[in-house]
Amino acid sequence: MRLQFLLTSDQRALGATFMRNLNDDLLTFVYPSDAPRTFHTAFCPPLRMVALDAEGQVLFDQVVPAWKFVRLPACRYVIETGPKVDYRPHVHTIISLAPDLPQRGTMDASLRMDDLLFALLAEAVADLRRIREAHLGEVRPEIQRRRFSAWERGQIVSSAGFLLDFSQDWSLPEGAVKLSYAVLRAEAPYLEELVAASVAGIPWRHEFPSHCMRCGKPGSWRPILQPAPQAPVEILWRYQRPENAIPICHHCTETLDLLRNEPLQLDLVWGLWGPRFEALWRWHRARKNNHLPDWDPCVHPLWPPEFGGATWEAGSGALAHAEPRPPQGVLRSEQHMTALRRALFCKRFRGRQPGEAPLQKLLDFRLDLFEGETL
Ligand SMILES: [Zn+2]
Repeated sequence: MRLQFLLTSDQRALGATFMRNLNDDLLTFVYPSDAPRTFHTAFCPPLRMVALDAEGQVLFDQVVPAWKFVRLPACRYVIETGPKVDYRPHVHTIISLAPDLPQRGTMDASLRMDDLLFALLAEAVADLRRIREAHLGEVRPEIQRRRFSAWERGQIVSSAGFLLDFSQDWSLPEGAVKLSYAVLRAEAPYLEELVAASVAGIPWRHEFPSHCMRCGKPGSWRPILQPAPQAPVEILWRYQRPENAIPICHHCTETLDLLRNEPLQLDLVWGLWGPRFEALWRWHRARKNNHLPDWDPCVHPLWPPEFGGATWEAGSGALAHAEPRPPQGVLRSEQHMTALRRALFCKRFRGRQPGEAPLQKLLDFRLDLFEGETL
């Protein structure tokens, strides 16, 4: 266990940001006076936050996930530590040591905090500059919804929150602070969806291999499930996820009559993505039937935790597994394989043969390539 004190405003502003895991370290924020405080846990691992008054009485004690604003009551000390750490034996030490600490304490200098910090600040300010240019004055929700995609709006919102956190201890240009408030106000109804999109909704199509999964020739990724016609723009990124798409060429689309054959589409996407498509499908159905369970999209951006397994391969929608990834390594059962073979070989291969499709190699399944010829 290491006990670290954060005394200066810049140390406090950084806190647990950039630390992969607090383990059982205690970060203690020491303030000169009692005041209510807002913390933002962007980039933080899940952590326990504890607020103490000057006498060491506990005013707040909660485990907080990443990407959250946390409002603390008027307090003198704030402790951040791992979710399971028992901080109580150390409260006495904190209270007795803190007032005597020099006002410029030292943190682990090897972290190079200030470089990271200024890079992030510069990025946040650049985001807000885009807002100012897009709106020419007042921030209007309809312009925000039309001009920017959900993942961009999520990043802009995070930047605004980040700047507001800093504005409490640092002097930032007044325009940036005003604009940050205006953005958060305009986006308030969509915040959770946008923050989820900022991680999970980033574009991927041009980064992934897109060879046709049937014949291996150049193709493109085609989404399968369609959003309801009246779906809000904030959730459309969920239908753009790789788990809802298959790479297929024009030729095979025609040969399979794919656009008019919904069971075939489902076989292909289900077979390719296995439990990851199942989880997305459960989200899609639950939303359609108004049966979505209450869940925290900041911790599980993709779908409620009970819809998928514990790992990426098994369909987890957790933050750690939310960035778009190609289908390599998905846990496929015999049912998935059967569906895949059924769809890939339901029509005779004419002219084009199932070749050395890079995607088929990725899938690493044992297809009998002549099976289609005997049908
Ligand atoms: Zn093809």
